[in-house]
Amino acid sequence: MQPPYSNSHDVSLCRIDKHTCGACCWGPNIKRSHLVSRLRRQRDLFRHISSAGTLPGHARLFLHEILATRGMNLLWAVLVRLPGIGKRRKKTIAQSIVCPFMGFDNDQETCVGCMIHPTRFEGHDVRSAVAFALLPGITCGDANYVCTGCTRFNDMPHDQTQVFLNAVTALDWYEYTQTVRAFACTAVVPRPEATSESNCS
Ligand code: SF4
Ligand code: SF4
Repeated sequence: MQPPYSNSHDVSLCRIDKHTCGACCWGPNIKRSHLVSRLRRQRDLFRHISSAGTLPGHARLFLHEILATRGMNLLWAVLVRLPGIGKRRKKTIAQSIVCPFMGFDNDQETCVGCMIHPTRFEGHDVRSAVAFALLPGITCGDANYVCTGCTRFNDMPHDQTQVFLNAVTALDWYEYTQTVRAFACTAVVPRPEATSESNCS
């Protein structure tokens, strides 16, 4: 897992125009219907533990993680530590996990975002300390992380970036995320109808 919209490039695909990408914050094997209910529930839960502009303390964030995963993080914490199968389990979990701090960014559910992103809390960054706190080897990535898709986008000639942006105009948050994921893998500029389910693994 890596932090969205945190790279130092001129243009970030994490948030561009009305689009938001969540590819760093949920695994590639998650179905859209499951994601929708998770992101909705997590947004609503987070509203209960936070007050506007104030970052909740670590204990409240930990409670949020337990509630968001319905306690599954406690079970996973045991499974990934089991000798022999722990490593395999960790890989499976990482493919299908949703970060508890990802949520819909609005009531209309048209965009997604990290609910503890430092831009919301005057630069205070607790993401790597609290996200997946019980799961060794699964973390929110370095704050300076730049994904392959962003790098490719910034390396493209201007007319190609316009082709990309035109192609994604009509996509919603899920389709856009899938497209950025695919673009990172293949470097193929998406066509307007491209909403591939592909991933890099
Ligand atoms: S804390 Fe979670 S939602 Fe936020 S950037 Fe990290 S992985 Fe994504
Ligand atoms: S895959 Fe790239 S654009 Fe998408 S959230 Fe991650 S860093 Fe941002």
